[in-house]
Amino acid sequence: MRVYLNGRIVPASEATVPLTERGLLFGDGIYEVTRAAGGEFIELSRHVTRLMRNLRELQIRVPEERITELVDASRTLIQENAPEGDALVYWQVTRGAAPRVHHFPPPQTLPTIFANVTSVALPHAMRTRGAVAITVPDIRWARCDIKTVNLLPNVLAKQRAVEAGADEAIFVRDGAVIEGASSNIFAAIDGELRTHPASPYMLGGITRDVVLELAHEARLTVREVPILLDELYRAREAFFTSTFNDVMPIVRIDGRAIGDGQPGPTTRQLYAAFAEHIGAVPAARAAGAARPELARK
Ligand code: PMP
Repeated sequence: MRVYLNGRIVPASEATVPLTERGLLFGDGIYEVTRAAGGEFIELSRHVTRLMRNLRELQIRVPEERITELVDASRTLIQENAPEGDALVYWQVTRGAAPRVHHFPPPQTLPTIFANVTSVALPHAMRTRGAVAITVPDIRWARCDIKTVNLLPNVLAKQRAVEAGADEAIFVRDGAVIEGASSNIFAAIDGELRTHPASPYMLGGITRDVVLELAHEARLTVREVPILLDELYRAREAFFTSTFNDVMPIVRIDGRAIGDGQPGPTTRQLYAAFAEHIGAVPAARAAGAARPELARK
């Protein structure tokens, strides 16, 4: 397999970075996960916009032509690794390699820019059965809106989920449901679709943004307000969203059934609308998704 590193596409075995790389020493960098289907990116411009915002937030300076080069190289890697099926495209940009001091290195230090492409099978079986989640205390910092490679709390939360036989861990801060360890959370409560408002305590998911737009288009009642854990337990439906999972029903949280313990109609409706939006209609039908004309208000 070949990968992109600092301006070149090379065999993965030849893609090496110095041990003084600041991503390694400090987690001083950001990443982005985008998806491709049939050789084409999905929502490319939103992902590039988020990548550039994150770089600005951390004051990592990358000329725009390097970002164009990253995208072009990723297209080549998609053609090499997954020309037809589904793929995840991983991008990482760090502040580069320099002698270890905490503050920023000299301005001439080049950022490290990396991309790889992995062919994936989408989780349609989980979508049919519905995902299981646990909740965990949110021990993260106050800038979770920046997609940094510092993912240790997420790693620990995901491990707890695995040990509990669950598919996702949900961060709860001061009684409010913030987001999943690698997803955003929605719930249907009292006839409304709710999700936590954009905030420095969570990542503004691109799938979340698209789902909100589709929910408005479908004239669902949508409110971006915090969901309390008690409210989540008694929700009629819950689901999580992410680039890999699209719209994923949650049927059990902390051992309690959500609604009737089956993927709910609003979740299925939004998944169908999402699949249509990204041009994945045949896959959506195969997964038994409802048609989007359901339950309009
Ligand atoms: N929150 C966190 C913490 C995540 O890691 C992710 C996945 N990148 C998301 C939310 C969902 O974001 P997106 O829809 O852009 O993949």
